Amino acid sequence: MYCPRCERTIKKEKLEELDQELKRRFDRDSIERGKCPVCDTPLIQLNKEEL
Ligand SMILES: [Zn+2]
Repeated sequence: MYCPRCERTIKKEKLEELDQELKRRFDRDSIERGKCPVCDTPLIQLNKEEL
């Protein structure tokens, strides 16, 4: 997944890890809703090869 605003790519593997951590520590489910945990911009799905 890619955030166009942060210009940051988050790998799928890392995304799940981050999702768990955000839920646990900050009670945020941004990632589950497909949004960037930093700026809340909808994340863009990249090609499978790039994940
Ligand atoms: Zn962002």
